[in-house]
Amino acid sequence: MATCLVLADVHANLSALQAVLQDAAYRSAISALLFLGDVVGYGAEPNECIERLRDYPSVAVAGNHDLGAVGRADLALFNADASVACGWTAARLSSTSASFLCTLPLSIEQPPFLLVHGSPANPTWEYVVSASRAHALQSVCRQPHCLVGHTHVPAAFNMESGRSVAAAVGDSLCLRHGRFLMNSGSVGQPRDGDCRAAYALLETDDLVLQWFRVSYDVDAAAAAIVRAGLPLSLAARLRVGY
Ligand code: ZN
Repeated sequence: MATCLVLADVHANLSALQAVLQDAAYRSAISALLFLGDVVGYGAEPNECIERLRDYPSVAVAGNHDLGAVGRADLALFNADASVACGWTAARLSSTSASFLCTLPLSIEQPPFLLVHGSPANPTWEYVVSASRAHALQSVCRQPHCLVGHTHVPAAFNMESGRSVAAAVGDSLCLRHGRFLMNSGSVGQPRDGDCRAAYALLETDDLVLQWFRVSYDVDAAAAAIVRAGLPLSLAARLRVGY
């Protein structure tokens, strides 16, 4: 049975990414990554995180921060801290990292999934936070299911019924009955009050998605942000998971 590791919003947090890769490998043999955008931005280790992602066969889309770091999105669209971090990242990307970010598409169809950072209607910028919005999006979703990131909150919505589905730690969802829009949560900057790194595993034969969290060295990630001279609030928020 093939298992894909579903990741979003790494945000240049190498400690969190390494913890997720180790935890996922402990649970299952990972055949590929499905990456939902924002490998860089906010955190202090952009090149290292891109290199780790590139170690695996992957299907990957760009997030707004990935675009901002290589001039594919206007920095005026970002809040103050995010904009500072984008500029910081742009100045430090290796040429290999920059070309990786430049080639990421905004959406990919990997049947039966549409992969986007934001939403099927606005692949880069829309935050899907409600079941009613997921329901409205089913008409523009070109595949039965959609995998998203961007909100940094694990979630699952049944697009047909317009209902939320449980997406807490250990919850699993069989995708055979219904059309689902799912968010694996954020690896490197969770925003649901739980500072542990979030990810999901997809069993591609059975079509089952399961959500996980793993503790990581938050102090190391925060210290790297402080050392880099990035805004201190970006270090502080990692400790509270927001
Ligand atoms: Zn993000």
